[in-house]
Amino acid sequence: MHVPGFILDTVSSEHSYPLDQNVLYDILILGGGPAAMSAAIYAARKMLNIAFVTVDFGGQIRETSEVENYLGFQSINAHDLIERFQQHVKSFRLPIGVGARVEAVFRNDGLFTAVMEDGLRYTAKTVIYATGARHRQLAVPGEKELIGRGVTYCSICDAPLYKDRKVMVVGGGNSAFTAALDLSRGNATIILVNNARGWQADAILQRQIRDYKKIEFLDLHEVVRIEGGDRVEGVTVRGRVTGEEKTVAVDGVFIEIGLLPNSDPVKNLVELNERGEVVVDCLCRTNIPGFFAAGDVTTIPHKQIIVAAGEGAKAALSAHDYLVQTSRL
Ligand SMILES: Cc1cc2nc3c(=O)[nH]c(=O)nc-3n(C[C@H](O)[C@H](O)[C@H](O)COP(=O)(O)OP(=O)(O)OC[C@H]3O[C@@H](n4cnc5c(N)ncnc54)[C@H](O)[C@@H]3O)c2cc1C
Repeated sequence: MHVPGFILDTVSSEHSYPLDQNVLYDILILGGGPAAMSAAIYAARKMLNIAFVTVDFGGQIRETSEVENYLGFQSINAHDLIERFQQHVKSFRLPIGVGARVEAVFRNDGLFTAVMEDGLRYTAKTVIYATGARHRQLAVPGEKELIGRGVTYCSICDAPLYKDRKVMVVGGGNSAFTAALDLSRGNATIILVNNARGWQADAILQRQIRDYKKIEFLDLHEVVRIEGGDRVEGVTVRGRVTGEEKTVAVDGVFIEIGLLPNSDPVKNLVELNERGEVVVDCLCRTNIPGFFAAGDVTTIPHKQIIVAAGEGAKAALSAHDYLVQTSRL
């Protein structure tokens, strides 16, 4: 669930370990979500010289209010979880740059340089690229206003909240059908809406959900508006063939139309797949030696906090191994 206007007090003034453009770092960690923060902790414990550069601390966790699936916490406020992660990272007294957006990363003579939007440049022997992803939005009235109050982008996180409720799932691919399956386990009444003709999800997923009695399929319909005051009360959809509009009363809307990886800064450097995700192997290595990637920006499936944190840890250990094996420490 999301709390609009949720603002996290990120790195505060007591943190005084600035980044230095004249230092050659062992690892440049780009991003500030769970993948990057976990990488920082593992790299710091290997006594590597780290620079940590991010737009913010917390990443997508900032968009939610409660987390109920992170090991060790039956339920934790998202703000508190970020605070714990952040304090853990800061306890290592690393040079951290927050509010800094990486525009591009390039490689020269085996070293990597990250160019910030303000023109500053940081150079390192290795990079852990963990800039995450953002959910593709419908961009219709009511969507932004009702995020966390009925509008959600994460069925793994929020489906249990809609037990016995009526919901709309928007999308026609695997994510939408997976969301519908998650919701069906809570006996929700589901309306699946797709603006294209038919459904693009894998056949096996389609078969599983078609057996569910409380689902209505509505293809060739687009969402026009999400209705509601304090919470979602309905969704107005328009038939693409008839042009007719109707408002359907629902308690929630799951928007499952894809994730956009934040891979633009490295699109000319590393291999990306057709979705724009950085292609990694099981050790978080990319096709460029010394350039590692972790979390939602990569090809690793199951975009979750605990997965991203695990991948970040792996990336840091792989970067350490690379530095040792290539005698760069
Ligand atoms: C609404 C919502 C609810 C969710 N709920 C849950 C949940 O309950 N449980 C769960 O396990 N998962 C949940 N998720 C998924 C989870 O948040 C993500 O899988 C996880 O945060 C991914 O971590 P990450 O570190 O890979 O990337 P992100 O969290 O996306 O972090 C990326 C970081 O990189 C920074 N960044 C991006 N571009 C740049 C750039 N150019 N330069 C510098 N920095 C940059 C960003 O500012 C951010 O700090 C939810 C996601 C959403 C959107």
